[in-house]
Amino acid sequence: MIPYSTQTIDSTDLKAINDVMLSDYLTTGPKVPEFEGELASYVNAKYAVAVSSATAALHISMLALGVGINDIVYVSAISFVASANCALYTGASVEFMDVNPHTGNIDIEKLKIQLAKAKNENKLPKALVCVHLSGRSCDMKAIKALSLEYGFYIVEDASHAVGSVYENEMVGCCTYSDLAVFSFHPVKIITTTEGGAITTNNEDLYKKLSLLRAHGITHNTTEMEHKDMPNFYYEQIELGYNYRMSDVQAALGINQLLRVQEFVDKRRELAKHYIDLLKDVDVKLPIPDTDNNKNSWHLYQIGIDKGRRDNVYKQLRERGIGVQVHYLPIYAHPYYQKLHKYEKLEGAETFFANTLSIPLYPKLSNLDQSMVASTIASVIDRLGD
Ligand SMILES: *Cc1c(COP(=O)(O)O)cnc(C)c1O
Repeated sequence: MIPYSTQTIDSTDLKAINDVMLSDYLTTGPKVPEFEGELASYVNAKYAVAVSSATAALHISMLALGVGINDIVYVSAISFVASANCALYTGASVEFMDVNPHTGNIDIEKLKIQLAKAKNENKLPKALVCVHLSGRSCDMKAIKALSLEYGFYIVEDASHAVGSVYENEMVGCCTYSDLAVFSFHPVKIITTTEGGAITTNNEDLYKKLSLLRAHGITHNTTEMEHKDMPNFYYEQIELGYNYRMSDVQAALGINQLLRVQEFVDKRRELAKHYIDLLKDVDVKLPIPDTDNNKNSWHLYQIGIDKGRRDNVYKQLRERGIGVQVHYLPIYAHPYYQKLHKYEKLEGAETFFANTLSIPLYPKLSNLDQSMVASTIASVIDRLGD
């Protein structure tokens, strides 16, 4: 089966892991801060905090922003469940925002209407989690303008978007947001096996996130209640978690970051090639890159309408092509339906019904890509209208 995405691991990754396994520190050593420095510099943010997963990153992002009981968090309806679960962990409630049926990214016009209504009803959100679906950035300038007008925090769920460019800046530089979250799960752009990170330019948030990731414990005397204590002394000053990334994971991450641009460039090249390969097929292609806005192409999502998607999915899987659907609207999961009678959102329903992720990853050979495209073409042609 050709997967829709997979990791790229080489012998230098193995050596990096091996070296750290034989060093003094398997966790909480020098590799995590080194990885954080490299990541922050790659995305051009002041700070990065590495954690055990993007899910953990989203959770402590909510906590660092002070999200809790009685708060409302807006979340893109089309995403992995973690984008919404993080708000529920804190006791906040979630409202789902509709998406553009072509990109799956948050629909700005509908968001505007929703915010105006929420203001009248005194139900404005404390934070918005916007998801850069497939790696294509949301319209952050518009979202930032709305956050200034209505006063909510912005968390970018950039799990798909390591290496993406929005208006000539790296996603994660936080020019238009408070925090940006990345995932290093193996299907994503770079991997640390499990792993995630948060980037920010806000020192206060950075300090809170650093505490929350490690039990709320500080070793920094300036933060302690009791000064002049012996060296062994530390204090817990917040209720934190063990969401640490290990040095083994960070060493892999550092080595992956050396090749991140290579991975992203290769994904872009393959994405471009799909345009040629699929131009005569009755599918809707994703919006291509421009000079100022570049997708990292975590996913290559094509539109297959007229009720054909499920049939095409099935036939391609039978032919060894590991296509996938991203995602069922979060509100449609039974857990969310039991929590609250969420209404269906039109854009999200259309996107979910018509979209298919087809294989794209750095190791995908030109031959396999051509085979994937010709198989899609023949399956679709045979279905007709
Ligand atoms: C993968 C993913 C996550 C969760 O990432 P983990 O690192 O597996 O916790 C969250 N949000 C989105 C959009 C994702 O794709």
